[in-house]
Amino acid sequence: MKQLRKIKNIIEPQFVMEGAGVRLRRSISPHPTNRFDPFLLFDHFAFNDPLEGPILGFPMHPHRGIETVSYILEGSVNHRDSLGNSGTIGPGDVQWMTSGRGILHEEMPRRGSNGIINGFQLWVNLPAALKMSQPRYQEVNASTIPSVTKDGATVRVVAGEVFGAKGPVTDIAANPLYIDVTLAPGTEFVQDIPRGHTAVAYVFEGSGTFGDEPENALLVSSVKMLQFDDGDYIQVRSKPDSPVRFMLMAGAPFLEPIVPYGPFVMNTVGEIQQALLDLRNGTFAEQ
Ligand code: FE
Repeated sequence: MKQLRKIKNIIEPQFVMEGAGVRLRRSISPHPTNRFDPFLLFDHFAFNDPLEGPILGFPMHPHRGIETVSYILEGSVNHRDSLGNSGTIGPGDVQWMTSGRGILHEEMPRRGSNGIINGFQLWVNLPAALKMSQPRYQEVNASTIPSVTKDGATVRVVAGEVFGAKGPVTDIAANPLYIDVTLAPGTEFVQDIPRGHTAVAYVFEGSGTFGDEPENALLVSSVKMLQFDDGDYIQVRSKPDSPVRFMLMAGAPFLEPIVPYGPFVMNTVGEIQQALLDLRNGTFAEQ
C-alpha cells in the first residue's frame, strides 16, 4: 500500500539581507548537516513594500559546486556572467544555472509595471563527481513551461512530470521535481514522489491542509516551508473558500559530506581553499 508523506517540519522563513541590501525571506540555507539534501537554499525575494527601500541586487559574485535556480513570478531579473551570457528573466521564466567548476555572475532584480518583484531562488547541490564540471545554463521561457489543469489543480512543471506533462529542465543530477501548484478552493491534489527523495513545499499564498486522515493532516497558512517525511505521495486540500499556492520540490539526496562557504558548496575544506585560491589567481572561471 502506498504511504502518505506526513509533515516532518514546519519552517518559518526568516528575513535576511543579502547581496547589496536585498531583503528576502530565507527558509533553507546551506549547512554542514545538509538536512534538505539535495537542496541547499531557498530564498523568496518579494519587494512589494516601499518601506524596503531602493532595489539593489547581487553584483558580480562567484559560484562553484552548485546549481542556482531562479523562478520569477513578477518583475524581472537582469543577469550577466563571466561566460558572456546576459539577459532578462521575466514573469514565469526560469533560469537553471549549473555553476559546475565556476561562474561569476550578476543578478539585478527590477520591479515590474505593478511595482512588484516576486520570485524564488533555489540552490540544488551537485554530487562530488560533477562539482568541477563545465558550467551550463538552461534558460526557460515562460511560454515553454507546461501549465496543466486537472480537477481544480493548476500546475506549472519546471522539472519532473505531472499529469503527463514533462518540465523543460532535464539532465539534472538530483533528478528533481520542481513545480508551481495552485489549487482552486475545495480542490484535492495528490502527487507521487519517489521513496527516498527529499520533499519540501513552500506555501506562499493562501492556506491548505497537507495530509489525508485528520490525524495525519495539518492546516498550513502561508508563508511556510514544509518538509515531508519519507513515503510515496503527498496530499493537499484547499479550503472550500480559499485557494492555496505552493512550490513543490523533491530530489534524490547525494548523501555526501558538504562544506558550504558563502557561494561555494564543496565536499571538503581543501576544495573550498582551492576555490578561494582560484578566485585570487584569476583562474576561477573561464572568461
Ligand atoms: Fe548568484
